Amino acid sequence: MKVANKVVVVTGAGSGMGRELTLALLRKGARVAAVDLNEATLKETIALAGQSGDKISSHVVNVSDRQAVEALPSAVIAAHGAVDGIINNAGIIQPFVRLNDLQYDAIERVINVNLYGVIYMTKAFLPYLLARPAAHIVNISSMGGFFPVPGQTVYGASKAGVKLLTEGLYAELLETNVRVTIVFPGAIATNITQNSGVAIERPTADDAAQSFPMTSAEDAAEMIIDGMERDRFQVYVGRDAKMMNLFYRFSPKRATQFMYSRMKELLQG
Ligand code: NAD
Repeated sequence: MKVANKVVVVTGAGSGMGRELTLALLRKGARVAAVDLNEATLKETIALAGQSGDKISSHVVNVSDRQAVEALPSAVIAAHGAVDGIINNAGIIQPFVRLNDLQYDAIERVINVNLYGVIYMTKAFLPYLLARPAAHIVNISSMGGFFPVPGQTVYGASKAGVKLLTEGLYAELLETNVRVTIVFPGAIATNITQNSGVAIERPTADDAAQSFPMTSAEDAAEMIIDGMERDRFQVYVGRDAKMMNLFYRFSPKRATQFMYSRMKELLQG
């Protein structure tokens, strides 16, 4: 879907890729409903929008709060008159430990935000999107959503869930006006570790292929919007994501063992 003159909801708009997606969409002539649970950083994004500030609405919402998400479409329509697209980008990583050492509160938090958040958003907005002449859903998974990274096992499970949810949705909506895109970013330079409340400095799941340079959040946002505008089924962001996809397809077992050898020193406990 071409984004000019469309209304697009972006979750996680207060930081990293969500912020850059918001700013890039505004530059391309879209209106944006910016969603984040962090009010202070959401305000910063709106300040950065500068003169486009009248094309952006701000919504302090936790995407894992189903009731709050169900109230979002009417707030977005009240602000912009319609809604044409959603980019489900808000997400968190888990503490960098083995599953055996991961507490249930962390497990539930990651699955509630990364997987249920996407399900709530999708179900809340889909009826409105189906009523538009053209509409689009973009879901952000991860390189860690198609191959396993020890120390981010529940994160990976949540992102693999997003992958298949999105690909299933793509198929279900093929004969409708709603296009669907799944995005697999590799390592992107953002503050996700701190924002997720994870004490350890990077690495994260998505830094796994560290021989590749990290992609900037700005470049990632451009690639994601380009994929959306070309109605791509899948978008791999960064050379690391593309290479690991090939490696995993060639030999899932060797790719898994390779990743363990890269990450084992970093596992806590
Ligand atoms: P980030 O931490 O810079 O930004 C994420 C934003 O989401 C933050 O502003 C945060 O406040 C918000 N958020 C978190 N939980 C929320 C909730 N429950 N409700 C509403 N907002 C919430 O992270 P980022 O690196 O830009 O990540 C964006 C997405 O990309 C995430 O889904 C992440 O898993 C995915 N991803 C990131 C990388 C990477 O290397 N950074 C790689 C692959 C995938």
